Formats: sequence, structure tokens, C-alpha cells
Amino acid sequence: MAIKKIDPMAQLMPGTGDMSAEQFRALGYQYVDWVSHYLETVGEKPVLSQVKPGWVKSQLPSSPPQDPESLSQAIDDLDRIITPANTHWNHPGFFAYFSITGSTPGILGELVSAAYNVNGMLWKTSPACTELEEVVLDWLKQMLGLPRDWFGLVNDTASVASLCAIAAARESLDLKIREEGMAGRTDLPALCLYTSEHSHSSIEKGAIVLGIGQKNVRKIAVDAEFKMRADALESAILEDLAAGRRPFCVCATVGTTSTTSVDPVPAIADICERYHLWLHVDAAYAGSAAVLPEFRYILDGCDRADSFITNPHKWMFTPVDFSAFYTRHPEILRRAFTLVPEYLRTDQGEEVRDLMNYGVSMGRRFRALKFWFVVRAFGVAGIQARLREHIRLAKRLAGWIDAHPDFERLAPTPFSTVCFRAHPKGVDDESKLEALNEQLLERVNATGRAFLSHTKLGGRFTIRWAIGNLRTDEARVEETWKILEDSLQEIHQGRKV
Ligand SMILES: *Cc1c(COP(=O)(O)O)cnc(C)c1O
Repeated sequence: MAIKKIDPMAQLMPGTGDMSAEQFRALGYQYVDWVSHYLETVGEKPVLSQVKPGWVKSQLPSSPPQDPESLSQAIDDLDRIITPANTHWNHPGFFAYFSITGSTPGILGELVSAAYNVNGMLWKTSPACTELEEVVLDWLKQMLGLPRDWFGLVNDTASVASLCAIAAARESLDLKIREEGMAGRTDLPALCLYTSEHSHSSIEKGAIVLGIGQKNVRKIAVDAEFKMRADALESAILEDLAAGRRPFCVCATVGTTSTTSVDPVPAIADICERYHLWLHVDAAYAGSAAVLPEFRYILDGCDRADSFITNPHKWMFTPVDFSAFYTRHPEILRRAFTLVPEYLRTDQGEEVRDLMNYGVSMGRRFRALKFWFVVRAFGVAGIQARLREHIRLAKRLAGWIDAHPDFERLAPTPFSTVCFRAHPKGVDDESKLEALNEQLLERVNATGRAFLSHTKLGGRFTIRWAIGNLRTDEARVEETWKILEDSLQEIHQGRKV
């Protein structure tokens, strides 16, 4: 008779129940040890995963286990399969896209959030979830110098938040779109949305989802520093008005994704007021910098915005996902999104807000916990000190690039993201430069010591180096710069032979 091997831990589980408190404690300590070790050693791992497509799947069973398995066993699988197939965003050499940190206070916040496992759709389904969210978003307003009377809520991502903002802008027009839709209506002019050619793709995607149509998204030209040109914005609005179209919303960016440039929000706000347009400001990355008094000015004019977003999960050490959304018109946002079925009706009255009425999803994770822990553990002063250090490192790097005969910067560096390329003396052909820089980027990323990404600026292939991880120190930045210099040398030598 075959003896069925039963995991001793699973054996202890009573019936179909979960682990006992004692089992969880033992296993939980193992996992805390594992996480601590991971964070301690992550900098030695290749930052960009080197696995081939399909490798992870080939390592995993194709069907689920019928019988219980031990989760201490799963630790082996993490080390053997999952970790090597990860691109390590919590790595000190992660300089791609925007460099972020899931800090340890934030990790603990996620642990507690999973333990509570609340769904904060209504105030009464977790008063703590709703009210802690209100409190920490009020703290964030104070940290960034935003108007205290704005209504705030947390979304998963900036993309969803911007979609909600554009939906509110559309609702503010009173065109009965909520009731009658947009299709097949002869009484509806084309609705036009304005944003710069350097704004994030999520703005255009929001317009697509909401039926505005890509053809009605005006990509306004930028100046030499990649900032939206206010004069070009006004011309585009006038042109649409003259053609009988209906301008309704302008999305300005504080810290564009390619270069981190800051649109001239005060001038844009003037135009929005003149033509009665909703002003949405996307400060997903750079908004955090306003926590520094010397950087407050980047939000000049944002107090006149109708809606505003910033992502503490980008540059405020909060684990993904945590995007802060503010609006001065909660009632319009509510009108756009509220739809309460009988089974969710409450009689709490005006005193409380049911956050499900201010966005697409009904369910709401207890995200405020992790941000609360981050702000408490670092303090505002601690957050300021770390942002200042990232900006200082980026300035040093920009200095090295400017001083090097074979490299050039391709955009100003207002924050901690540097845009540059190799441009060796005598190589001026644009397609050669593109091939060279692509090769350079590939070579650096293949070392596993750093991960940089790219963009295109004025048609030029541009390397982007974003500094924002708490484990990134000066030594790592110096080492990566050396790898870049050496890699360029190697490419040159390879060419000669
Ligand atoms: C990263 C970024 C976004 C998108 O952020 P998600 O939270 O991932 O949706 C939007 N806007 C800007 C300016 C960004 O930098």
C-alpha cells in the first residue's frame, strides 16, 4: 500500500482551515528572514533579468497541486525560479524608467493590509480604510503645499486617476453623456483635449477609453526644454472653437516621462480660465520633489488646477500601488461615477464619504497603511534628505557627462533623471549615433550591474538614467558611469579590429 506523504505542516492545519497562529508565526519569521536577506543581497544580483521567454513557465508545474504543499518549500522555488526571473526594481542599479523603492516600512504596511483584508468600498465597510486615506492624503497636501480644501482619494495608478479626471472634466460639460452616451448623437460637437507631445501615454489612453477619440487629442508642441508652449495651446483651442468643436480639458505635466520637464502651469491655468476648460495636472513622478522647500515652485499654478495627481509609489518610497488623486470638484467626480445598487445603499448621511462613488472600481485595498508607515518611519525630514541626495547624485552625473568629450546631455536635469547619449568626436551621422547608443545601452544592461532605459528626443536616441532607489549610493553611480565609459571604449576598439 502506497503511503501518502503528508506535509507535516499541512497535517497540522485543522480541516479545511488556515494555519494556526503558531504555524503562521513560525513560517512568517522564515519569510521575514527571506525578505531581509533578499533586500540585503539584491544589489549583487543582475538587475535586469537574463532569462529567456518561456523559461519561468518551463520550470513550473502545469497543473495545481492536489494535496497541500509546504510553504517553506516555496522559498526554494522563489530562490530557484522567481528571483532569477525577476527584474529587480528594488535594486540599487535600477535606473530605468523611473527608479522606485518598495521601502521596508511600506512592505510592513502591505503585510498589515493583507492581514486586515478589508474592502473599503463604503465608509462602514472599513471606517479606518476611508478615514486613514483621508488623513494621509491631507498630510501629503501639507507636505507638497497643495490646497487643504481639495478632496483626495487613492487610486492604484496614475493612468486610472487621469482617466477619472478626464471623465470628471467631461461630466462637467452637462452634455448628458452619462445618460445618453456619445455615439449617434447629432447634438454633440467633437470634444477636444489638449496635452503636450511629451505627456504620458495614459492621457491619450484615457481619452480613447472615454470615447473622446484620438483624433480629438491635440498634442501641443513643446519648447527647446520640452515644456508645453502656452501660445501653441491657445492657438489650438482657437482653431477648434472656430471649427465648431468643443475644447473641454487640458492635461499639463509636472515632470514629463521622457525628460522630467515642467509645463508652464500658471500660463496654462490662465488659458483654462479664459476658455472655461478643466485643468488636470499630472505630476506622477516629480510631484514628490515639492516636499523640498527649494522645489516648491514646481507646483506654481497647480493650486488653480481642477484635478491633480502624484504617485508616492514613484518617488516617495511607497510600494506599488499608491497614486494620490485630488480634485476641487468632488461633486462632479461623484456625478461621473456614482451608481449605487440597492445592496450597497447606506444611510450614513452626508457626514461620511463612500469612496466607491468616486471612481471605476467598487473595491478598495487598504493602501493608506503603507504610505502612513512610510511617512511615519522616515518623517518628512527623512524623505526630504533622501530626495535631496538623489538630486545631488543626478547633478554630479550630469556634470561628468558635460565634462566628457564623448558624451552629451540632451535635456536639462531639473530633478534626478538624466537624458544623454554618447557622441564621440567625429561621429555626426544620426543613424550611426543611434546604432552606437543602442549598442552601448545593451552592453551596459547586459552587465547586470545597472539597468538604464531610453527615449527619443527630437528624433535622437536618448539614454535615460533615473535615480530614485533608496539603496543607490554614490559608489553605485560611479561604478555605472565607469561601465558606460568602458563600454564605449570597447565598442570603439571592436570597430577598429
Ligand atoms: C509614470 C507616469 C504615469 C503612469 O503611472 P502609472 O501609475 O503607472 O499609471 C503617468 N504620468 C507620468 C508623468 C508618469 O511619469
